[in-house]
Amino acid sequence: MGVRYFQKDIETMPRAQLEALQLERLRRMVDYCYNNVPFYHKRLGEAGIEGGGKIKALSDVQYIPFTTKDDIRDNYPFGMMAVPMKDIVRIHASSGTTGKPTVGVYTQGDIDQWAQYMARVVTAAGVTAEDIIQISFGYGLFTGALGLHFGLEKIGATVIPASSGNSEKQLMMLRDFGVTGLVATPSYALYLGELVRESGYPQEAYAKLRHGILGSEGCTEEMRRRIEESLGVTVTDNYGMTELQGPGVSGECTERCGLHFNEDGFLPEVIDPDTLQPKGRGEAGELVVTTLTRQGMPVLRYRTKDITRLHYEPCACGRTHARMEKVMGRTDDMLIIKGVNVFPSQIESVLVGMDNVGPHYQLVVTRKNYLDRLEVKVELTDSSLLESFGELQGLQKRIHDKLRSVLGLETKVTLVEPKSLERFQGKAKRVQDLRNTKN
Ligand SMILES: [Zn+2]
Repeated sequence: MGVRYFQKDIETMPRAQLEALQLERLRRMVDYCYNNVPFYHKRLGEAGIEGGGKIKALSDVQYIPFTTKDDIRDNYPFGMMAVPMKDIVRIHASSGTTGKPTVGVYTQGDIDQWAQYMARVVTAAGVTAEDIIQISFGYGLFTGALGLHFGLEKIGATVIPASSGNSEKQLMMLRDFGVTGLVATPSYALYLGELVRESGYPQEAYAKLRHGILGSEGCTEEMRRRIEESLGVTVTDNYGMTELQGPGVSGECTERCGLHFNEDGFLPEVIDPDTLQPKGRGEAGELVVTTLTRQGMPVLRYRTKDITRLHYEPCACGRTHARMEKVMGRTDDMLIIKGVNVFPSQIESVLVGMDNVGPHYQLVVTRKNYLDRLEVKVELTDSSLLESFGELQGLQKRIHDKLRSVLGLETKVTLVEPKSLERFQGKAKRVQDLRNTKN
């Protein structure tokens, strides 16, 4: 009998009751931040919110000042901490691509709570105590691996802390240990899927694989379909970030119609990233999150830079917690080319819908004579195509025309040989913006 971790009383709580709980926790959290974090004492004081008593309704959250990544960076490493270091049991950090990493600190209470939120996410994804899950996220400072690790152990699943890299060994464990689920980034899952096909073992050698629990970067529908085909899994998405705890903020249930927010622990909002005003329910904008239970490093109205929508209608699975759409892009991934907003995910969705090209691509943005130019390098799936100039030209034109209709922009499409673009074991880096470098 698989032990499941569905906290029915909380996860199916009627909205009115849930929102009353959120209001109570928000007021307590504002008090807690005001009294324990000098940064928030100052910020909240300047906004005239000298404690939770000023918050009369949940919608009053909009009067609380935002917290940005820069705020967290400016207070590196421990300036956002609300408890003395002796109460901290663990430190994580995100791999900042520029400058100092983002640090997250955890009390024992935070670690226990995190495991609980994570246990809900993997349970919603269909994982039980009977599953054997291989975690192919890199362990270390990154929150992803240990976050999933503790949540999966909490529900009684068997965890293999494979970490990332050494792909042959990854495949060997998938076959020999009877692995039923894989935790990885979508790009690494895609890569492992390619290797499975070439591994020389029949597909049956991997037949026990059922769950693909993917996260930490975006995954288009088409990419998801390819991973599901090549690995024989059902893919579910989950969401989180070091600034908020790590993974376990939201996760997809098996209905796969959005990622349920753990709303008793995280209060989500969607704002217009330009005007900073709240968006209506169901409208797209930047996701802003307030932690409602975190002790070590609480965060008020954190601007995630992720673009999404929130839906509040009940889900067929019975959960009442809001569903967040798969992240559509990041406000800082958004390329502005000749004044047009372009998300890499839009380009991906065009490419994966076409024959003879793979899901691997690269974007190169350059500027010449004050004019931006976007080159889209696309990998072919079959090198025999390279022998037919006519076919190549036709394919190139089809991609170009489709991109023009989706983006409203002229691009240069370059077709490259199979397997010539870089593969990523962590997060994919698909955009090269060379506009500010001298050539
Ligand atoms: Zn659901």
